[in-house]
Amino acid sequence: EGKELGRGHIRRFESHMATQAVRQLELERDLRRALLEGQFRLVYQPQIALNTTELIGFEALIRWRHPERGEISPNDFIPFAEQTGIICRIGEWALDCAIWQIKTWHEAGLALVPVSVNVSALQLAQPLFAATVIARLDALPAYLRNQIALELTESTLMHEQALSSVHQLTAAEIPIFMDDFGTGYSNLSTISQLALSKLKFDRSLIQNVGNDASHQRVCRALLDLADALELEVIAEGVETLEEAQWLAEQGVLYAQGYWFSHPLESAAAIAYLKRL
Ligand code: C2E
Ligand code: MG
Ligand code: MG
Ligand code: MG
Repeated sequence: EGKELGRGHIRRFESHMATQAVRQLELERDLRRALLEGQFRLVYQPQIALNTTELIGFEALIRWRHPERGEISPNDFIPFAEQTGIICRIGEWALDCAIWQIKTWHEAGLALVPVSVNVSALQLAQPLFAATVIARLDALPAYLRNQIALELTESTLMHEQALSSVHQLTAAEIPIFMDDFGTGYSNLSTISQLALSKLKFDRSLIQNVGNDASHQRVCRALLDLADALELEVIAEGVETLEEAQWLAEQGVLYAQGYWFSHPLESAAAIAYLKRL
């Protein structure tokens, strides 16, 4: 009877593995289809000047409305898209979409702010990535060319090719934001050698700085580090007035988070541009 049970376990285990494999194949097929059928869109989260609460930029964040499964969070498909390599095509789509969006806003007579587009490690590791982006942006009219920034995370910088991509992009004066700063492997000497534009302090560093002394000390120390690196800071994931006030008192210039605004559908983002 024990053997029976054992075999049953193995069968269940194998069928679980098979289900996993099938799910992955389905997800990969669905991601390809999503690109072809226009199921992705970008939403735009305001980046705010802390002292005036004025809009200084938008972060473009991808959204996927799956025809059967509904909205799927980027956290649930971007890592998989990276494993399969399809992230490179998704990333191209996101850059094109952001450019198209800024152009549309401009043609509607709206004032513009820079839009930052997230770039994945795999994209940055492609030898032709930087040259392709630079060529794409250089082909645009100046008003558009200067409104695109790129966000990348610290962990993307572990390879030589990625560093070389960043050097090429910054040499072409494309603003680069270091995303999720404070969560990953930080090679500070590398960061100090790159002509980065801004450091985005991860939400985990910002959480509770409104009322927790030890969080405040850690955040203050990293703000001093940002000062030493002569980099401006955007605080990510600001959710409360207390956090916003403490950050403003510390001299942080910019913030992004639910306290100011959730990511907005493009139609809603227009209201922000109209106030500029
Ligand atoms: P991220 O680039 O660090 O983006 C910030 C994330 O924090 C977004 O999640 C945003 O909606 C969320 N957020 C903003 N303010 C708050 C807040 O006050 N509280 C909390 N709890 N969350 C806040 P989202 O849109 O789900 O995106 C998750 C991640 O997926 C992004 O993190 C980024 O790493 C990745 N991602 C999104 N769009 C793209 C894309 O077009 N390309 C690539 N490669 N990655 C993307
Ligand atoms: Mg980002
Ligand atoms: Mg981030
Ligand atoms: Mg993140």
